[in-house]
Amino acid sequence: MGKQAIKIVELDVKELIKDLNKAYCDEWLAYYAYWYMAKTVSGFYYEDMGEFLSKIAKDEEEHAGELADRILELGGTPILSPAELEKNANAPYPMPPKETKDYKKIIKVVLEAEAGAIDVYNKIAKKVQGKDHATYQLINHILSEEIKHEQMFEDLLG
Ligand code: FE
Ligand code: FE
Repeated sequence: MGKQAIKIVELDVKELIKDLNKAYCDEWLAYYAYWYMAKTVSGFYYEDMGEFLSKIAKDEEEHAGELADRILELGGTPILSPAELEKNANAPYPMPPKETKDYKKIIKVVLEAEAGAIDVYNKIAKKVQGKDHATYQLINHILSEEIKHEQMFEDLLG
């Protein structure tokens, strides 16, 4: 990012990079959990559930990529090692249930993770609003997808 672009970010850039890196960690953990559940899900609707979960895994991977791009633009470094991902995340790993055909348990894990993500992005959006337009736009884009994810799984429950 250029000098003028850095200057118009009216924020503590180090703190912002830290917030973005924490969200970056959440996204990889979410990606892995969704990917894993998509692979291992069993039971009567396993094909539909698998497809559904793997579509959302792809979204979470995209979020990680978008956050990495912004961290780099701001002069930061995305977390280097997978061992650091859970340590630096906002929330613990959304552990998939052992019972791979228990869709209710899967949905419970997922809804908790999505609620956490919505909370995290809502807080970052408030912090950067009017201060860093590029980050604000990105965070709003990700937030709107997390809201969709939550809705999709709530609909499955109902
Ligand atoms: Fe996400
Ligand atoms: Fe999500």
